[in-house]
Amino acid sequence: MRDRVIGRLHAALGAGAVLTEPSDRAPYETDVLGIRTGRALAVVRPRDTAGVAEVVRLCAEAGVPVIPQGGNTGFCAGATPSGDGSAIVLSTERLNRIRSVDPVDATLTVEAGVRLNDAQAAAQRHGKLLALSHGGLSSTIGGNIATNAGGNNVLRYGMARTQVLGLEVVLPDGRIWEGLSALRKDNAGTDLKQLFIGTEGTLGIVTAACLTLQPAPTQAVTALVAVPGSDAALSLLAQVAAEMGQALSAAELIPRAGLDLHFRHRGHTREPFTQAYPWQVLLELTAGSRFFDLAGGVESVLATALSNGTAHDAVVSASEAQRQAFWTLREGLAVAQVETPGNLKNDTSVPVAAIPRFIAEAEVAARAVEPDCVPIPFGHLGDGNIHFNLNPPTGADPAAFIARWPELTAAIEEVAVALGGSIAAEHGLGRTKVDAARRLKPALDLELMARVKQALDPEGTLNPGVML
Ligand SMILES: Cc1cc2nc3c(=O)[nH]c(=O)nc-3n(C[C@H](O)[C@H](O)[C@H](O)COP(=O)(O)OP(=O)(O)OC[C@H]3O[C@@H](n4cnc5c(N)ncnc54)[C@H](O)[C@@H]3O)c2cc1C
Repeated sequence: MRDRVIGRLHAALGAGAVLTEPSDRAPYETDVLGIRTGRALAVVRPRDTAGVAEVVRLCAEAGVPVIPQGGNTGFCAGATPSGDGSAIVLSTERLNRIRSVDPVDATLTVEAGVRLNDAQAAAQRHGKLLALSHGGLSSTIGGNIATNAGGNNVLRYGMARTQVLGLEVVLPDGRIWEGLSALRKDNAGTDLKQLFIGTEGTLGIVTAACLTLQPAPTQAVTALVAVPGSDAALSLLAQVAAEMGQALSAAELIPRAGLDLHFRHRGHTREPFTQAYPWQVLLELTAGSRFFDLAGGVESVLATALSNGTAHDAVVSASEAQRQAFWTLREGLAVAQVETPGNLKNDTSVPVAAIPRFIAEAEVAARAVEPDCVPIPFGHLGDGNIHFNLNPPTGADPAAFIARWPELTAAIEEVAVALGGSIAAEHGLGRTKVDAARRLKPALDLELMARVKQALDPEGTLNPGVML
């Protein structure tokens, strides 16, 4: 049956669209961290929505599981096949057309496989901003929607979900749901697109999306502020938000351990300040009007923060190059972690006010498991999503540290949940957090999730083993 399905996929999609050789499949079988590897029956790469529908229909008929894959940058192995070689990976890489940009409606309609950075560039060419922004630039719009991605601008613009107006989706039985609406107001019944946002390819395969665009900023002021601790970082956030309102679009926490890692990784040690401070906050404020004195406002708020002891030091970008350099510090520490053997990623969130307590208690919990681990708590100060990541002890064997991951992760997740937080803020549950969800999510939540899955995908063809 399985051999027959490969033959049918070949016949339906044509040459080059179905990869069966191990060396061709390999890049699709390992996750971005290079840790989780599986085996696929084949990798299929349809060129359009009809092709996706045909693949899903043929696989449903043959009882072959389908694993949607976009940029393969997700951190929870949601796009990685299991080891038994029973499933096909459906890559959206050829669904890469920008269908339209409408500057009047302020919408961008793209196919699911369009890369995040290409979608951003398309909006920019029309004087607009696609507010979805994070370090996984080679991720796809489909993957961002399937994981309800967050990133750096969530405190101002919300998660991926808030930017989706409409979707086109291939359902588990191969039918196409045409929900590609550009409407901002539509209360005519259940908002069906929400079923496919953040459900990690378990209920349908997103083939295209209509996204809302924002006015492109005409001014941006980016500042790097050295603060004494995470409570001071929070106090700074409150002061800036009170004075600058909605102009605040990013507030990212950068610890010393993260900066040191980035510098080692990049092979240079250019400190942003004359002194090595323990914590820094990267602030970005933007405005879509030239009539606001953004720079004057930021300077005034930072002067107050320096005089009242909230900040040790601050530097405001004087050029686009300097602004980029500040962001390189922030994004560089995430990349350095991806490339550090044994680095353990966590994706917890807590209420913003609980961040200092979370950082302190998570460190105690992690050290109780592995006293010499190196905590690198960093990220989205403005929305409570601090990635409490851990590096192995200096000189330790990464494999030995990886063996401790389950204990370390559980310790940190339990602290977050006790503070009213989540174990999966912006990366999803994938395959790696299913057990944690079973332990830490309310039983009724899990029951409702399972009932929705049963209603839409009764045969369990789409991404089995992910999320549930
Ligand atoms: C350096 C770096 C920094 C990052 N920073 C952030 C960050 O700040 N915030 C953040 O949220 N994420 C971040 N990420 C993670 C990642 O980029 C996101 O999770 C992204 O949304 C995944 O998109 P993808 O196309 O790579 O999806 P994949 O990794 O291919 O898949 C992710 C999940 O979505 C499903 N899926 C993929 N495409 C579709 C589709 N078309 N239809 C249905 N299901 C689909 C897959 O089956 C899988 O379950 C970062 C990643 C890297 C490498």
